[in-house]
Amino acid sequence: AKKSDNLYIAGKVASDTSQDHNRFILENDLRKVIERNELSLVYQPQYDMNRNEMIGMEALIRWKHAEKGFISPVDFIPLAEENGSIIAIGNWVLLTVCNQINEWKAKGFLVPTVAVNISPVQLQNENFVQSLLDIFTLTGCEPTSISLEITESMTLDIEKTMSLFKQLNDININISVDDFGTGYSSLYYLDQLPIDQVKIDKSFIQNKSKQAIVKSIVEMANNLQIEVIAEGVETSEQVQFLQEINCTYAQGYYFSKPISDVEKLLRLK
Ligand code: C2E
Ligand code: CA
Ligand code: CA
Ligand code: CA
Repeated sequence: AKKSDNLYIAGKVASDTSQDHNRFILENDLRKVIERNELSLVYQPQYDMNRNEMIGMEALIRWKHAEKGFISPVDFIPLAEENGSIIAIGNWVLLTVCNQINEWKAKGFLVPTVAVNISPVQLQNENFVQSLLDIFTLTGCEPTSISLEITESMTLDIEKTMSLFKQLNDININISVDDFGTGYSSLYYLDQLPIDQVKIDKSFIQNKSKQAIVKSIVEMANNLQIEVIAEGVETSEQVQFLQEINCTYAQGYYFSKPISDVEKLLRLK
């Protein structure tokens, strides 16, 4: 037992050290991603399944590291949240989306709402609303052109969330609660906050044993007149189930992966 303990410890120390090293490098590199031009956005369409029509799209960030190649946001967003670079990265995302919308509009395209992911760390930053307003002023992009995907977070108390959501609602930005169902206080604040949409987390959509939960979320949202969208829809069975329970909106590989060339999906005015 002693020997395997030691092996285990030795192995753990070794891997921890190299992980820490890698993490250190990435954290440093994250501070330079913008000036190095290593970030880009892809867009995943969102569909109205009844009308068979694209109703929106979600902007998703991509990082192409000079040596390491593509690094998933699942891996680098938490690091960026820890070292604070998420603030600059988040503003870069918002600015890029606004400029992109303007460019599409200038080309004559009808542009559906673009959903932008907002980290709880960005929300907690006292300058968040002001930097949003600055970006709208700077680009001339309308606040109604975008929506914010916000995850439930324990780091914001209900009063702060309430005042923030009210400010966002007052400037006409739509609010979507991302990963809905995975937090714990969902039910409580659903009718307390000015929420426009809930996005059912893919873990519920992709697990047949969670169908009852999906059904009750959809019913509740429909009753409260909050838009509801299913994420991570991959199969025709999932589409059929969602239609049966009156969930109209969906996003997922079944319809399209996130893509960089969105123009082919847009219609002209
Ligand atoms: P999320 O907001 O829940 O985004 C959905 C993720 O599921 C995306 O992964 C998307 O590519 C993936 N996905 C879409 N359809 C399907 C499907 O049918 N099946 C499966 N298995 N997956 C699907 P991605 O792009 O790797 O992003 C992962 C997470 O990183 C996002 O989860 C979000 O939390 C975060 N993220 C991405 N872009 C940004 C950003 O600009 N800012 C912030 N703060 N976070 C971001
Ligand atoms: Ca999202
Ligand atoms: Ca609203
Ligand atoms: Ca999710």
